Amino acid sequence: MRFVRPAFNGGNAQVEYRAHSQGRRWRGLLRQGVAGVARYIGNHPVLAGVAGTLVAVAMAGLTLLTLLSGRTDALDHARETSQNLVSIISSDLERHVEIYNLSLQAMVDGTEHHFGAGLPADEQRAVLFDRATTAAYLGGAYIVGADGGVIASQSGEMSPSIRFADRDYFVAHQRNPAVGLYLSHPFRSRVRDGKLSIGLTRRINEADGRFAGVALLAIRIEYFQHLLDRITIGKLGSVFIAMDDGTLIARKPYAPRDIGASIAKSPTFVTMAAHGAGSYVASSAVDGVQRMYTYAHVPGTPLIAVVAPAVDDVLAPWRHRAIINGVLTLTFGAVFVVVSWLLAFALRGKLRAQAALMRLAATDPLTGLSNRRVLDDRLDEEWRRARRSGQPLSALFIDIDHFKHFNDTYGHASGDDALSAVAECISTTVRRSVDVVARYGGEEFAVILPDATADGALAVAEKIRRRVQAQDILHGGGDRVTVTVSVGCATCVPAQGANALDLLAAADRQLYVAKAAGRNRVASAQPVARSVTQGSPS
Ligand code: GH3
Ligand code: MG
Ligand code: MG
Repeated sequence: MRFVRPAFNGGNAQVEYRAHSQGRRWRGLLRQGVAGVARYIGNHPVLAGVAGTLVAVAMAGLTLLTLLSGRTDALDHARETSQNLVSIISSDLERHVEIYNLSLQAMVDGTEHHFGAGLPADEQRAVLFDRATTAAYLGGAYIVGADGGVIASQSGEMSPSIRFADRDYFVAHQRNPAVGLYLSHPFRSRVRDGKLSIGLTRRINEADGRFAGVALLAIRIEYFQHLLDRITIGKLGSVFIAMDDGTLIARKPYAPRDIGASIAKSPTFVTMAAHGAGSYVASSAVDGVQRMYTYAHVPGTPLIAVVAPAVDDVLAPWRHRAIINGVLTLTFGAVFVVVSWLLAFALRGKLRAQAALMRLAATDPLTGLSNRRVLDDRLDEEWRRARRSGQPLSALFIDIDHFKHFNDTYGHASGDDALSAVAECISTTVRRSVDVVARYGGEEFAVILPDATADGALAVAEKIRRRVQAQDILHGGGDRVTVTVSVGCATCVPAQGANALDLLAAADRQLYVAKAAGRNRVASAQPVARSVTQGSPS
């Protein structure tokens, strides 16, 4: 067998031990802290209710903050989605307009350079419209002459009677050679059974720059409408394409009478006309629905794409969640508060009962004075305090004179009344809060006077004796009788090794001195010559 030397890990063990003992210390402190808080709350039950209420209010506040931030998130998310949709619509429009523009430029080039070159009609059409788009929504491609009549069309159909000289695009190009690409207002086609269309046009010039007509691509309005139909915008939302002068080109939900109508005067439109892109919440002037309008001008065109979901639609899922969360939070919060206060009241009731019990346990039921147990505790306490401070401590022992005879003569009920009356005399004479008055047993009472000198104690004893004597006691027979007491006084400055009970025993001895000297008097241990004070009998 091979002896294996154990690895030395004394350092690690020390570190582990230190960490362990530190952990124990922290746990101990934590336990003390928790116990301290529990004790404090136990003594202040209302605090439990207040703390419970505060916790519930804090939780409700947190929930409210979370809900509000959820609302902001929902609106932000809707804004983002709307911005994406606007961007998609805008790109689609931009791309199509670009393609149409190229076709128009080809048509203008063809007209300016080849028209009237003596080509047959078919070839001429091929030259002019070859590069014209064949997009699904193209209503037709036309070359309109300077007089407003169609001089060539993609389809080959010509209607000599139809004139376009009154169209906005014709007038615009006729008046201004620098218009470039022109996007017309919606119009009803004169060649296609009044179908709603938009005209995309470019000017055609003579060689000397004079107005020679316009190249026209008629785009069916359905293109714009179908572009919007693919977008889901909620029950009350709307999405639309308008021109920068407020003319509505397409709208979802679709209403035929809206197309071509002007929203220029609507307060919601004024903001979008003034800025390139943006988002804002406003109430619609038409239906009063509050919507989040997100818009952008389509580059290179006079078009504005607008996505406007209704705020109610956007917030509906959030509202549903908020109601559930709110109701649950309020319910649990209310239950928490109620339980906290129930516990607080239960605790208070318990504390009151405990206090009453402690009072009962400390009080003599007949006289209402402290009982023997309290006397012992307080005597011990005051003894130690006096020993620390070096101040004197005095005790009085009071005994009713000939009380047996009183009982025998007037009955025990009158005896009890007399006992209560004497107790009242003593407690009203001894006024300092630190003084202790207790019923020692039977018809004997003890008084502890902290910081009282022998002379002071003697004065108090004498005062008690006089007061008792001055008080007539009404006994059962209706007569008034005088009761007297004898008092023994003792005073000392507690010394190491001495006992608190010695002080009481000394006072008791003086009581016997007073009794022996004839009763109704005060006897004091210091100095003996002055300790026995003769009380005046009357
Ligand atoms: P002295 O002290 O002057 O020597 O005579 P005393 O008659 O007072 O003597 P003692 O101490 O022997 O008598 C005590 C009497 O006090 C006995 C009892 O009848 C009476 N006593 C003690 N406790 C009560 C009490 O609670 N109620 C009533 N009514 N009497 C009590
Ligand atoms: Mg007695
Ligand atoms: Mg007595």
